[in-house]
Amino acid sequence: MFFFEVKNQAFISKEQLTCPRCNKPHLKSGNGLHYLSFGILPLLPLSVKRLQTCSSCRFHHDGERMALTSVPLHQLLIKLIGIVLFVSVMLYVYTSWQAKQEWELEVLRTPQIDDFYFIDYSKFKEEDYYQKRVVAAKVIAVDDEKVWFTLANYMYSLNKDLVTAARLSNFIHQGYFTNQLYSVPKSQLMDYFESGKIYRAHRPRYLKLYGGFVLKPKQPAPLYKGFNPNQANEEGIQYYQDGQFDLAREQFEIAAAQGDQWGQMNLADMYRDGTAGQVDLERSLALYQQAKLQGNNKAKVAYQELCNLLKKCQ
Ligand SMILES: [Zn+2]
Repeated sequence: MFFFEVKNQAFISKEQLTCPRCNKPHLKSGNGLHYLSFGILPLLPLSVKRLQTCSSCRFHHDGERMALTSVPLHQLLIKLIGIVLFVSVMLYVYTSWQAKQEWELEVLRTPQIDDFYFIDYSKFKEEDYYQKRVVAAKVIAVDDEKVWFTLANYMYSLNKDLVTAARLSNFIHQGYFTNQLYSVPKSQLMDYFESGKIYRAHRPRYLKLYGGFVLKPKQPAPLYKGFNPNQANEEGIQYYQDGQFDLAREQFEIAAAQGDQWGQMNLADMYRDGTAGQVDLERSLALYQQAKLQGNNKAKVAYQELCNLLKKCQ
């Protein structure tokens, strides 16, 4: 069904001529157009021949070659439709390839966090024996001079397998990327591209590449806008959970001094319980009170308990 073939189309004029064989005025004359087609798609007009057919004596004569212009112009143009389509598709493919190339150069010229580079590992490492392995790199940080990125734990021998990994959203899996950082001077990225160390540069759109998620959405803003966690307190909690109570206490001191109610609470707990230091109930009570004055309900309860214990409340 889909193959090249030469087809014929006849254009016969209405007027009837005298037949040279039977002398009756039943000779129809016209032109036959040969054209190349692919399936039903005409590609190219080839030639025109003179046609003569007598309806009385069946006289038939395929005559001399004619100029292509002897058939109507629009019929010639229609026969070119396949070529026009083919050229348009090629042009489209070429311009989109060029635009993509341009965009990748732009990504490398202006590196940003969360850009992805596809790396030809053997070239990147300048190995003595080239062995094809491709790996994704994720840009972690960019400063004035350098780009910092990590490589994935997973390598592939085929480019398309790396694309598939992106398409399947593997990039966002825990542990897909290593923790090891590489840095490259910004000015060298273009060299890396030209030498094939980086063979693709990507900037995800809407967190996606090749239709798969490669970035996690940013955490939604907390519903209660007033909640603004204190950095020192957060760190203190981390230390506390790791059992590093001295360090936790230092951080809670900082948070409490900054007026953070939760820092005051946590520090008060430590003074009350004597965690990583002497018990200091007076200090503890004072801290609970500070937190309580900021409207902290937990501090209110703790303050009441401690002040009952110390018999300081009415
Ligand atoms: Zn005839």
